[in-house]
Amino acid sequence: MALTIGVDIGGTKVAAGVVDEDGQIVAKLLRPTPADNPDQVAHTIGEAILELAEGREIEAVGLGAAGFVDETRSIVRFAPNLAWREEPLQKKVSDMVGLPVVVENDANAMAWGEARFGAGRGETHLVCVTVGTGIGGGLVFEGSLYRGRWGMGAELGHMQVVPEGRRCGCGNLGCWEQYASGSALVNEARRIAETDPGRATTLLKIAGTPEEIEGQEITDAARQGDPAALAAFASIGQWLGQGMADLAAVLDPGCFILGGGVSRAADLWIDEARESFATRLSGRGHRPLADIRPAELGAAAGLVGAADLARRR
Ligand SMILES: [Zn+2]
Repeated sequence: MALTIGVDIGGTKVAAGVVDEDGQIVAKLLRPTPADNPDQVAHTIGEAILELAEGREIEAVGLGAAGFVDETRSIVRFAPNLAWREEPLQKKVSDMVGLPVVVENDANAMAWGEARFGAGRGETHLVCVTVGTGIGGGLVFEGSLYRGRWGMGAELGHMQVVPEGRRCGCGNLGCWEQYASGSALVNEARRIAETDPGRATTLLKIAGTPEEIEGQEITDAARQGDPAALAAFASIGQWLGQGMADLAAVLDPGCFILGGGVSRAADLWIDEARESFATRLSGRGHRPLADIRPAELGAAAGLVGAADLARRR
């Protein structure tokens, strides 16, 4: 069976795995990311690939990178969390390992992994929304990944959903990820705990002070019925539903797959997201409702997707 290697390059760790044609990971290893040095990042990736390729016949390698990847799938133009600027990652790694290499945006790789082997199996038109610190996205239409003209498509988190809204890390105002991401969840819970501590007694008992509230504390408190934590999740759900309704107006997908850290607590917001989506959808009542589902592959989606995209290079 033909094997490829997928690599998921994050800000803190590099996860590399050998993947078969059914999307099964047959071997895997993790390395810390030397985030401030591009040459060392490429070297770390190359070493991980060589170690995994030892004694195996590997067809190709797919790298999932958190950054803007050019349309030739070779160069990372810019990465917010790594020191990549016009980084020729494809060439550096392929020179080192002697195998065909493609570079993909990490959220695109994740979307592809879910589309092929996860929650999107059998769907021809799907939108994957990765809800973590920010919001990433991937679009799969008619069985192909949609990358855009310059490879920069599907940056869903930077749709400007609120005119003159909250300042985003990208420099614009009112981006979706300022309202519907893991960071937005934390900000909302902290805001309620500060302004209305009576609603956040369990949350504050778990976290200590409002500033110490993080995602895990909000999840734990919500499961114990804390009103502030539940309200923060409800807010995320509503904003996710609103953004998905906008996306459906343009893209008309058969389903949305919600991945990333926030999706691990999907039961706490998904009903809200579905309801918000259904009440805001353009043409509602006269069209089928796209299904909204949590992702299935968890942290492995990017690695598995990158490996499968390498097979289809
Ligand atoms: Zn933005």
